[in-house]
Amino acid sequence: MDPIYFDHHATTPCDARVVEAMLPYFSEVFGNPASLTHPHGRRAANALEDARIAVARFFGAQPAEIYFTAGATESNNTALAMLGEGEHLITSAIEHSSILAPAEQLAKRGVAVTLLRPDGEGFITSESVARAIRPETRLVSIEAANGEIGTIQPFTEIGALCRERGVLFHSDITQAAGKIAVGLHNASIDLASFSGHKVYGPKGIGGLFIRRGVRVEPFIRGGGQEKKIRSGTVNVPGAVGIAAALMIRADEMQPEAERLASIRDEMRERIVSEITGVSVNGPRAVRLPGNLNVSFEKIEAEALMLAMRHFSLSSGSACSSGERGPSRVLLAIGVSEAMAMGSIRIGLGKANTAEHAARFVDDLKRAIARIREISAA
Ligand code: PMP
Repeated sequence: MDPIYFDHHATTPCDARVVEAMLPYFSEVFGNPASLTHPHGRRAANALEDARIAVARFFGAQPAEIYFTAGATESNNTALAMLGEGEHLITSAIEHSSILAPAEQLAKRGVAVTLLRPDGEGFITSESVARAIRPETRLVSIEAANGEIGTIQPFTEIGALCRERGVLFHSDITQAAGKIAVGLHNASIDLASFSGHKVYGPKGIGGLFIRRGVRVEPFIRGGGQEKKIRSGTVNVPGAVGIAAALMIRADEMQPEAERLASIRDEMRERIVSEITGVSVNGPRAVRLPGNLNVSFEKIEAEALMLAMRHFSLSSGSACSSGERGPSRVLLAIGVSEAMAMGSIRIGLGKANTAEHAARFVDDLKRAIARIREISAA
């Protein structure tokens, strides 16, 4: 049996239509988009600007507000690079490491950093942001949705609050983009990071939205491409790819979200009713459509994943991502260390069906029963 892919928060397969759209931009239209003095360069530059227009349209932004980067890690680092000594950053304890690691570095350089704690379902409330704002607060950075437990943050409320208080709002929308609607201007978002490979596009391309008038400090310096915000020859095939991927998402996102949420809900109901010692992590409703995160008593997720090796999924012990120990997101929402080590994350995507889900739950029941039997013996 071919393994079934249930790890769409980690990455998604590049859509065949996206690959096709990209192909001419490797060897035919290969010019450097900065070489505006000749036709080869201008053709590449035109393709790049068309891609920028399509990405901007998807997010309800202006093309001049979209900057291509090598992915969301770079976008997040760029967004935070504006902070200097004596300024204050508000972010949360459950952000992606590409926010938390630069925030830690900034703290060493005299930036005050507040890490907001989520509630038991992973929500960062706008009230908690309001309480943390002080006169020297420059930037609030709160993700739109969490990639482990699926929590969709009240980013529109947080954006309105930040606008009212005169503080910039950055949102890492990497996990939300292409899955739920995120209108950047409607949500008063000043900066937003996103990535190609989470939206059925290619890896190694992403973007940073910077609202017109917001000043950003470059993180990568050099030839001054992307209006000096991100130096380096732009990945033209990648930009064409992320644009094609988002245009497809615009059509497919809504029906797919409904379909995946219904498969996910059915899975959750079966897991909770047919297996004992289970708890569901994260919110019930305000949650990414394809996301499910569950913990099992007396189970090591690593052993469970070995027993379920026909399914590619992720565990709440962060070992799979190179770290050791239980997921800090699960610990932050109050899950015990033992239950965090016994948790799995299911990330459904467009190729998944109700049959995959049913087969998964059948296998899961058997695997859990067997592991518990062995450890009891
Ligand atoms: N932010 C979030 C929320 C993510 O899930 C990821 C990818 N796991 C990133 C940032 C980093 O994205 P990229 O792989 O494009 O650098």
